[in-house]
Amino acid sequence: MNLIFATNNPGKLAEAREIITTHHILSLAEIGCNDEVPETGTTISQNAEQKAMYIWDKNHQDCFSDDTGLEVDFLNGEPGVYSARYAGEQKNPEDNMAKLLAALHDAPNRKARFHTEIVLVIGGTPHHFEGYVNGIITTSKRGDGGFGYDPIFQPDGFDITMAEMTAAQKNAISHRSMALNKMAKWIFGTCPQQ
Ligand code: IMP
Repeated sequence: MNLIFATNNPGKLAEAREIITTHHILSLAEIGCNDEVPETGTTISQNAEQKAMYIWDKNHQDCFSDDTGLEVDFLNGEPGVYSARYAGEQKNPEDNMAKLLAALHDAPNRKARFHTEIVLVIGGTPHHFEGYVNGIITTSKRGDGGFGYDPIFQPDGFDITMAEMTAAQKNAISHRSMALNKMAKWIFGTCPQQ
């Protein structure tokens, strides 16, 4: 059975396909959707629901979306919902990381967390699933795996960044995998025959 994931991010798709094995996960490109999906909410939860409902309204097929933010203690939770465009509308990860490292150059507290919210829309009804991972922002970039802010995020209990982890290591602890696993459990509980 197909389930649309409202993204074209290859990193997110790979993570979801590892975890959601009950369904064939389709990207937006695979359903021929080239829209700039709106993200005008002021919270991660609102954005995730807006993206998923937009795709549901267009296709009337079951789908899910995720929205993620990096919440930095020293910056009072910023960039949070604005993580993608922290350094500008071009949404460039290198610029975002450079801006964050500069903002924290003399910070006594480098604690941060990734926060993901997934919204699954089944038959037009949204269901929310949250995931978190705590860690610190490193003082420089390390590693070339993952995507986004991974090279400067070191999860608690590790001495490597998320970009230095294998995909399996990241999936074992990540914010998105926590939310995806909650969704997978919910799907299985609702439709155990799948
Ligand atoms: P969005 O959920 O795709 O809007 O992501 C918001 C911002 O967080 C973007 O800058 C992403 O690159 C970044 N981001 C999302 N998920 C991850 C992740 O798993 N690791 C690192 N950065 C991420």
